[in-house]
Amino acid sequence: MLFTAAILPPPTADLLVVNAKIWTDGALTQNSVLGVRAGKIVYVGKSTQGLRGPKTQVLDAKGRLLTPGIIDAHTHLARAGVGFKYGLDLRVATSKAQFIELVRMKVATLPEGAWLSGRGWSTESYKVKETPHRNWIDAVTGDRPAVLTRMDGHSLLANSAALRLAGITKDGPADPPGGSIERDPKTGEPTGILVDAAMPLIQTPSATPLQLREGLKAVVAEANRFGVTAVGDIMDPLAVATVREYASSPNRSIRFGVYLQSESPMVVGMATQAKPIPGWFEPRGIKLYMDGSLGSRSAFMAAPFTKPLPTQPADWRGLPRIGATNGLYAQLIKSAADANLQVITHAIGDQANKDALDLYAQVPSLASRRFRIEHAQHLLPSEVGRFAKLGVLPSMQPFHKADDGRYCDDVIGTERSQSSYTFKTFLKSGAKLTFGSDFPVVTIDPWVGIHTAVTGEILGGSIWMPEQNISFDQALDAYTRTSAYAIFREKDLGRLAPGYQADFVLLDGWPYAKNGTKNLRAKATYVAGRKVF
Ligand SMILES: [Zn+2]
Repeated sequence: MLFTAAILPPPTADLLVVNAKIWTDGALTQNSVLGVRAGKIVYVGKSTQGLRGPKTQVLDAKGRLLTPGIIDAHTHLARAGVGFKYGLDLRVATSKAQFIELVRMKVATLPEGAWLSGRGWSTESYKVKETPHRNWIDAVTGDRPAVLTRMDGHSLLANSAALRLAGITKDGPADPPGGSIERDPKTGEPTGILVDAAMPLIQTPSATPLQLREGLKAVVAEANRFGVTAVGDIMDPLAVATVREYASSPNRSIRFGVYLQSESPMVVGMATQAKPIPGWFEPRGIKLYMDGSLGSRSAFMAAPFTKPLPTQPADWRGLPRIGATNGLYAQLIKSAADANLQVITHAIGDQANKDALDLYAQVPSLASRRFRIEHAQHLLPSEVGRFAKLGVLPSMQPFHKADDGRYCDDVIGTERSQSSYTFKTFLKSGAKLTFGSDFPVVTIDPWVGIHTAVTGEILGGSIWMPEQNISFDQALDAYTRTSAYAIFREKDLGRLAPGYQADFVLLDGWPYAKNGTKNLRAKATYVAGRKVF
């Protein structure tokens, strides 16, 4: 056999990328040629010799940077699809007047009786930083129920019609554990703002299978547009069928690592039963939530917020989830570990992070399990080093720093900001820093997140906490090689090397120039050797 192999000419490539500046494994290399055959990388080097055949397609990179496809370790593609395609996007509003005008315009396009749903508002950068109130939108929505989710997904604004349908009045119901119904301090009337565990009190109509499919296609195209070729997607168990169907279709253009999110004790069983489509749909584990978010002041802090919302008491420390304290998560973590599943846990506040690490620390041979903490945003200084020690991955979203940096000092004080978004300290400690976007909370564009991690530039243009800035190479490594490890795909994704999947991005812009990370964008995206953008 060896003899035969030696005398046959090596098979030629289906696709050859030439004149590229190849980046992989955390550094720019001297290599300029990449060969692809049958969807996989067969060659990385400097010469095209023996690779070019009559049918070989040649792509001249014209000196552009060629990087592995972006692996976004934390997305909600399945959940986001319908809202992304059909809902109102309020991220563009910069004032109350614009907010209301966008709602009015969207309502004009909806059929009679249809719900208005929207997302993406954040009034932190408005000149007048009021929290929205149902009376902002009641006049323009009328009897039509409306639900508008805050940018972080941890609170929503409902109009009076939606509150009425849900039976939320000045007389009740009481706040559910881990949630709050914001009320006027004088009258007790609901303001329309529901936080965290109170959000499901409003039952919005569910999407049709066609809407789910179309929505998913739209968000995958959005991901490909920015160079994203694989995701760690956190989804409701009900979404599994739609995503599996997509992942088995011939035009699939993204790879799913799947994390099921549910407060049901059955979630471990559901994750074990979800059937993989190797390479494209691979169930990995479950997602738990310790707390809420900074913007909604529902992150669970060890000491009170410096500045709670006007409706919150002065000693407000945020909202721990009930499962974190009543034994449910301890039990889910144990049964997930027994079933060899990965656990990823949302923790934003410093107390939530400590409690999550404490729960993880109970698990035998923890380090080999690659358990993750999602966000790992605000930490007690004593906890930062524990991630590396325990082998827990900080799975962070650098673009959240650009948002939170605007008000973090204000909300938790400058001292606690010092141990927030500790990218650099994590790397120094040897932790496997993993990046993602948290789409649709923010854009899925990885390059704006990388820019934030490298420069500390926040929304509005100022620089915040530059002490934690890392290099472009480190940031892109966290979005490729390490995020591949974070979804158990380091053997075939996240690097440009022979044997790896031919998932890659040609980049416009030169990150090593002065301020070169500012306007990076994908020029072309390939998945399994096929051009998908
Ligand atoms: Zn998320």
